[in-house]
Amino acid sequence: GEPHGEARKSTMALASKTTIIGVASGKGGVGKSTTTVNLAVALKKLGYSVGIIDADIYGFSIPRMMGNMSRPQALDDQMLLPVWAHDIPFISAGSLVNEDQAIIWRGPMLGKMIEQFLLNVQWGKLDYLLIDLPPGTGDVALSVAQMLPNTDLVLVTTPQAAAAQVASRVGSMAAKTNQRILGVIENMAYFLCDQCEKKHFIFGKGGGQALAANLGCEVIAEIPLTADVRLGSDVGDPIVADKEDHPAAQAYLQAARKL
Ligand code: ADP
Repeated sequence: GEPHGEARKSTMALASKTTIIGVASGKGGVGKSTTTVNLAVALKKLGYSVGIIDADIYGFSIPRMMGNMSRPQALDDQMLLPVWAHDIPFISAGSLVNEDQAIIWRGPMLGKMIEQFLLNVQWGKLDYLLIDLPPGTGDVALSVAQMLPNTDLVLVTTPQAAAAQVASRVGSMAAKTNQRILGVIENMAYFLCDQCEKKHFIFGKGGGQALAANLGCEVIAEIPLTADVRLGSDVGDPIVADKEDHPAAQAYLQAARKL
């Protein structure tokens, strides 16, 4: 439907040339945030300016994954400067509270926070703004989607049939909020061990393809399950940042070229 006034104001506050892409998933734990940071670093490597909004307010993990847990500086009583890491500006609820602090706000406050992330952060000129969305199709995910109508989505799933099924509900929600699905990223597509050349299909096969077929889009990358990806997230060095030749990094770069 037509975005209401608030929503229109929010999306227009950014430079009109900024491409906003939401990174979504049917459920938590499939690698949505890992995908967000690596796509951001990949876009940066491709020469674009890119920022990240962590809209996964309850389950924020972007500050740790980017390797900067510091607080944003206030520019004046209205505007915040984003936090920077890997040459990428970002903002997260995690930048504003302690990491172990639970966030217990209700829906309207969450909406307000996302709006402030869009309007009251000095983003500067961005080619891309990636938004790490809350998982699923619950209230928070829906209100964020309504706040960002006409944005594009990348949908992250594992190859597991059940996971892809859950993710397809995000597709239905996207249709209602006029969000276009740019493509599916199949994460944990296979495990590469260091003993043999074989790909081990821990979570089965075909979930990404099935989901893409269901939504009428393409699988834009298959990311292997590897300790290097996990480690990169844990230490604040996304794998694309310092292991560009790694198969996982290559897959993220391939996906970024399609955004
Ligand atoms: P989500 O944002 O969907 O909840 P995360 O990005 O936080 O998921 O990932 C969940 C966990 O899985 C994290 O510990 C992360 O490091 C790990 N992980 C994600 N993708 C991979 C991968 N391709 N290989 C290994 N570990 C991964």
